[in-house]
Amino acid sequence: MKVTEHLAQATETLFTIEILPPKKGEDIHTLFRHIDTLMEFKPAFIDVTYHREEHVYKEMGNGMLKKYVTRKRPGTVGICAAIQNRYHVDTIPHVICGGFSQEDTENMLIDLDFLGIHNVLVLRGDPVKTEPGFVPHPEGHCYANELIEQITGMNQGKYLYEESVSTPTDFCIGAAGYPEKHFESPNLDTDLYYLKQKVEAGAEFIVTQMFFDNRVYFNFVELCRANGINVPIIPGLKPMATLNHLTALPKYFFLDIPEDLRKEVAKCKDNKQVREVGIEWCAQQCRELKAAGVPCLHFYTMSKSEMVRRVAEQVF
Ligand code: FAD
Repeated sequence: MKVTEHLAQATETLFTIEILPPKKGEDIHTLFRHIDTLMEFKPAFIDVTYHREEHVYKEMGNGMLKKYVTRKRPGTVGICAAIQNRYHVDTIPHVICGGFSQEDTENMLIDLDFLGIHNVLVLRGDPVKTEPGFVPHPEGHCYANELIEQITGMNQGKYLYEESVSTPTDFCIGAAGYPEKHFESPNLDTDLYYLKQKVEAGAEFIVTQMFFDNRVYFNFVELCRANGINVPIIPGLKPMATLNHLTALPKYFFLDIPEDLRKEVAKCKDNKQVREVGIEWCAQQCRELKAAGVPCLHFYTMSKSEMVRRVAEQVF
């Protein structure tokens, strides 16, 4: 079923999760065990992230370095298919511009269509770690709205380099939204302008970056509506888990930590105590969001289920 159908048919707030593919060489059963512990909350759908290639330099033994291009977390498409077969839950593979030509993307989408996977979350993708900014593939897309246009075209039967119209695909397309603005955007208004372009290109739902202050989400939804962005906006949530998160989350995700949460975490003697604070804070956020009638609570599990399970026990 499509995300939009799940949301339209829901009689109460849905529980959904995002997982990461295992690191290359790791066993998929560890991931399944994490998902197993969350199945009692009946996730309506499960997102699976896509990870860009990385550049690794290895010593050649003669003083020279050789550059390798490798993916540390491959397998998004296979994991989506495996989850749909094993749990009968809809999956949402993330589809990114970075590292893909338009033809690579088309072929991936054909695979997804054949596998019965009809939801995608479309993203530009982050820069490769060793590059200072996002560099598009020479035959790929620079921004998510262009990739959305390509998929919308496939939904109309338009494939690359084909003269005649082919069998249309049937993808329900999602896009990312940033309540505290995307880090490259000069301001929230500009970011909203481009978010609207993604919706006009065919995005039918938005999933937000994580946030720790619900006012940020409520304000974002209000601004979206005022700017004519009327698709469902799914809030993304993550319980804070370590002392290090106080600095790492703002650094990597460009978000604010509310002062009350910072003070509570700063009082903790170890990460065990931080996890208790993080669970309580996130559960409180969820209760408020649920009371406000959000369509769905979407948890960034980072493929670790225990904290999300403890939050969900209090909320669902
Ligand atoms: P875009 O919408 O393309 O926007 C990028 C920037 O360019 C923004 O500042 C925007 O304002 C601006 N912009 C947009 N369109 C235009 C335009 N046409 N012209 C000029 N400027 C424009 N990354 C991964 O690599 N893999 C994942 O699986 C993944 N999952 C994610 C899931 C969620 C819910 C979120 C919120 C992020 C995820 N990311 C993932 C991170 C994401 O790829 C990065 O944040 C990336 O830097 C931006 O992606 P985007 O799709 O929002 O980009």
